[in-house]
Amino acid sequence: MRHQTHKSIHRVAQRWLLANDATSLNRLLISVQEYRDELVLSEGTCTALIAAGESRRVDRSEHVVVKSTRYDGNTVHGDVQGADSVYQTRISFKPRRAFNCSCPDQSRRGARGGPCKHVLALGKLWLREHINPAIDTMADRLIGILEHSEL
Ligand SMILES: [Zn+2]
Repeated sequence: MRHQTHKSIHRVAQRWLLANDATSLNRLLISVQEYRDELVLSEGTCTALIAAGESRRVDRSEHVVVKSTRYDGNTVHGDVQGADSVYQTRISFKPRRAFNCSCPDQSRRGARGGPCKHVLALGKLWLREHINPAIDTMADRLIGILEHSEL
């Protein structure tokens, strides 16, 4: 998670702790823990995938169109437009990190060959449009709850 988000939560939590008891703060933090863990896991997976991508494929992924996505709590599935057809692309966060794509490039190289441009495009989109906004929303809500409780 981004450093600034951590700092903001920490700062507000410190202030809140001075005015309230540790038990209720602990309850609040536990309630967001699971959601936070999920975000950290998915952010780490997408970031690692992009870092592992060959620069040529990372560049090409900029022009790839992800038509739709769906998320089942473990895996993000994408319908990704290829040259001739729509490919089924997925990135799994749990129970272990994995990715796959039905395109010829990924089929030829296998998972060990690194992510194809469709997987990279899905990872970038998921990071940009889901994970990062979710982290911001979670931080805003947590800060809001803590600040409100302080009054
Ligand atoms: Zn592909």
